[in-house]
Amino acid sequence: MAESFDVIVVGAGNAAFCAALAAREKVQKVLVLERAPEEESGGNSRFTAGLMRVAYDGVDDLKKVIPDLSAEEIARTDFGTYSADQFLDDMARVTEFRCDPDLTEILVRRSLPTLAWMRSKGQRFTAAWGRQAFNIGGRFKFWGGLTVEAVGGGPGLVDSLTGIARKNGIEVRYRARALELLTDDSGVLGVRVKYRGKTQELWAKAVVLAAGGFQADPEQRVRYLGPGWELAKVRGTRFNTGDGIRMALAVGAAAAGNWSGCHAVAWERNAPEFGDLAVGDQFQKHSYPWGVYLNAEGRRFVDEGADFRNYTYAKYGRVILAQPGQFAWQVFDAKVKAQLRDEYRIKQVTRRVGNTLEELVSKLEDTNQEQALNEIREYNAAVQTDIPFNPNVKDGRCTRNLRINKSNWANTLDTPPFEAYAVTCGVTFTFGGLRINPEAQVMSSDGEPIRGLYAAGELVGGIFWFNYPGGTGLTNGAVFGKIAGMSASASAAAA
Ligand SMILES: Cc1cc2nc3c(=O)[nH]c(=O)nc-3n(C[C@H](O)[C@H](O)[C@H](O)COP(=O)(O)OP(=O)(O)OC[C@H]3O[C@@H](n4cnc5c(N)ncnc54)[C@H](O)[C@@H]3O)c2cc1C
Repeated sequence: MAESFDVIVVGAGNAAFCAALAAREKVQKVLVLERAPEEESGGNSRFTAGLMRVAYDGVDDLKKVIPDLSAEEIARTDFGTYSADQFLDDMARVTEFRCDPDLTEILVRRSLPTLAWMRSKGQRFTAAWGRQAFNIGGRFKFWGGLTVEAVGGGPGLVDSLTGIARKNGIEVRYRARALELLTDDSGVLGVRVKYRGKTQELWAKAVVLAAGGFQADPEQRVRYLGPGWELAKVRGTRFNTGDGIRMALAVGAAAAGNWSGCHAVAWERNAPEFGDLAVGDQFQKHSYPWGVYLNAEGRRFVDEGADFRNYTYAKYGRVILAQPGQFAWQVFDAKVKAQLRDEYRIKQVTRRVGNTLEELVSKLEDTNQEQALNEIREYNAAVQTDIPFNPNVKDGRCTRNLRINKSNWANTLDTPPFEAYAVTCGVTFTFGGLRINPEAQVMSSDGEPIRGLYAAGELVGGIFWFNYPGGTGLTNGAVFGKIAGMSASASAAAA
């Protein structure tokens, strides 16, 4: 007997579970299909730090999401505000005004209510003191508009959402790979799936696709992102190979967004081909604003201090991939050592140390060492040391008259020991995907919604272009996952 469901959700990451939980509020039979085995389930969401960008007007708003903030924690923290207008400005600026205005407005305005809804389901959050705040004179001050993280990071988020889904009577099938959508002239009727080695047809009144981007498939990376992208490392799950996008395009869905664009960061040069859950996001190397980058020619190639890290890290992976040999060194001196993020202290790093700059550069393999030394000396001489260093603000402590200047946080490299870390490009997720409307219905290339088909998360196109404000991926998946689940269940209930 063929099985039938009210709503089938393809994927078991953050967007998928938000869709499933929202759908379950209205209908009985909700099924989640996860391609991965249980121990690798949860997609990229499991690999994250769980940081979620949310617009808030002060601590009272944050308490809707983190009700257990104590009086003592509030007293020792300057949470500031991150208004909806700031969030909208950040999205517009980093995407060079290409982000879909309607979807972006929804993303921003629904960020706080959606996280509060997740909290009401049992998902716990905390403040990201460890990564997004600096301790100044005993008081933590948040910078960069990113304040909330899921308890337990990405693994905590996925485990908790899975538990909440099960508690709400949602079935999750692992090793269940959706292969294609079942359709007739009226729209989508279900999914053909390979479950534990057997192909079967599952019927549904509505299907939500939340199966991630195509970043884990080197062939599609080259086809869409361009030559050389097969050489990037994949930061997260090996299971996001564009299945959801492909299935929808095959039934006439419209493509949208920045198909040649992706989120990509500085990532340990010798990291494995795909993410490793034991290391999580710790292969990333995000402290470059406090040092300088050098490429194989021994030259700086980017403004390390152009903006707060949250607004540059996602586009600099592409810049590193374009360097000779697809790698670079991040160079620091002892003055900033204490400020380097935790990820610099794991054992799987390619680190070189020297007590003099000469000794350090002599250890930089595959690199023009003479030029590297000259470059550091020229950089040191160009730093405007009369401007005080302040990591909390764009301090304007810059270099002058270099081929590529550093705009903020320019410290001279003069205090031993000196350290260099080798990085390459780690691709996080692709930006191109399916066109959806504000109800998260997948649009056909004829401009009409495809009946019974909804989408959310990484596989939606049109929201991120060129760059990305840190912590927006999970919020995007949550906001549109919830909308997709609500829309899908409404249409299932009406069917
Ligand atoms: C190392 C790393 C750190 C990150 N840190 C952050 C952060 O701190 N904050 C933030 O906001 N974002 C972060 N991101 C980005 C974030 O992970 C994504 O934007 C977000 O998790 C995407 O959620 P999703 O639900 O759309 O996709 P995913 O969580 O990737 O879920 C996709 C799901 O689909 C499944 N799937 C794929 N194909 C099929 C198929 N054919 N059939 C069935 N199932 C299928 C996958 O197995 C997976 O379960 C990070 C990403 C990485 C890799």
